[in-house]
Amino acid sequence: MPSLTFLGAARTVTGSKHLLEVDGQRILIDCGLFQGLKDLRLRNWSPLPIRPETIDTVVLTHAHIDHCGWLPRLVSQGFKGPVYCTAGTADLCKLVLPDAAHLQEEDAKFANKRGFSKHSPAMPLYTEEDAAEALSRLKPSPFNTKISVTKDIEVEFSNAGHLLGSSYVLATRKDNSGGRILFGGDLGRYSRPILPDPSPGVEADVLLVESTYGDRLHPEEDGGATLARIVTETIARRGKVIIPAFAIGRVEELLYWLFKLEDEGRLPKLPIYVDSPMAIKGIQYYSARTDELDKEIIEMRRKLPRFTSVNSAKESMALVANDSPAVIIASSGMATGGRVVHHLFAGLPDPRNTVLFVGFQAAGTRGRQLVDGAQHVKMFGQHVPVKARIERIDGMSAHADAAEIVRWLRTFPRAPKTTYLVHGEIIAQEALKLRITKELGWNVEIPAHGQKVDLPL
Ligand SMILES: [Zn+2]
Repeated sequence: MPSLTFLGAARTVTGSKHLLEVDGQRILIDCGLFQGLKDLRLRNWSPLPIRPETIDTVVLTHAHIDHCGWLPRLVSQGFKGPVYCTAGTADLCKLVLPDAAHLQEEDAKFANKRGFSKHSPAMPLYTEEDAAEALSRLKPSPFNTKISVTKDIEVEFSNAGHLLGSSYVLATRKDNSGGRILFGGDLGRYSRPILPDPSPGVEADVLLVESTYGDRLHPEEDGGATLARIVTETIARRGKVIIPAFAIGRVEELLYWLFKLEDEGRLPKLPIYVDSPMAIKGIQYYSARTDELDKEIIEMRRKLPRFTSVNSAKESMALVANDSPAVIIASSGMATGGRVVHHLFAGLPDPRNTVLFVGFQAAGTRGRQLVDGAQHVKMFGQHVPVKARIERIDGMSAHADAAEIVRWLRTFPRAPKTTYLVHGEIIAQEALKLRITKELGWNVEIPAHGQKVDLPL
């Protein structure tokens, strides 16, 4: 009997890995890294319940690290097969996998220096060579086309509107003799800039859908009003707006809003800097695939090149030293590392400046301390006073909220026999299950980590 085993993102939001087994053929849909609390991170070190060399193929829904970040580990443990994904996902993997490997190596080095690892010497989860090997397996594939991935199984990618290249993956038998399994990946949002609306649902017998915001609604879109206010007030004080930004997706959205506000005369023409080599590369990948993006962006694109890329570390330090009014977007998003730390070190003690957070700030990060109102933060061994204004804009999430998930489910031509909720905390999942059952009357299950179910495939 064909089966599906939930090896990650079951009752949690990271580590997506779904093992499809059909007549001795094994396909792993997504190969994500577990992130967050220590118990979860430790799972990255546990072997899979099957030997990696017995997996024929990996298929990736998109390039977020919780969906692709375990791939170098799988390769280092003996996986020999190809990895199918869209071309946009392959591009972004070239950015995120080597970066993740670098961070793993840095962590191991740090643990060795401090001597706090139980293992001696501490080893990285994977190396930059493992990441390079994983990249060499990628098979960039088109959207909306049947792609043969094993002897009997083919898949088809549909645009999920969540990140460049993000997809839902429909798995079927080549001879159409069995059922249709739809892996929802992560679901994008409706009526957002940059990315298109999620593609409508298709006929499916089994559906896996994410549930990150299964119990929540995103705040109403304010048409850029908060961003306009924050930038205007800061420039009036002759200060800088420093925006710690996640490299991919969020930076494109920020630039979109800045240009739109300027275009509508709601902001003066300001110097805008992107101080992150990874973000600059990400913008290039987005610009190269405008046909996969929202239609509005095609018109906006004529104005998009107006920002200054800060490439070298020397240029970055010169920008840190320059105190003219400007908007500076620099990574990392939680201010834990990267070039933004230098901007904050110089900029936090100056009351003219604003630090604007546009993403979730995890517990224990410098970003969280600032958002929580810290009077000073420790950087480079010094206590830096926080005199700059700290602001935040929520609602730039790339994930559908509860109403958007249900809206997407309503686009399916018929109810799947079973809908599995994955990629969510249990409280969000229970709430979403209740909502789907009540509003649509669908059969909904919440699989546990490691659970194996029969598939009508
Ligand atoms: Zn994602």
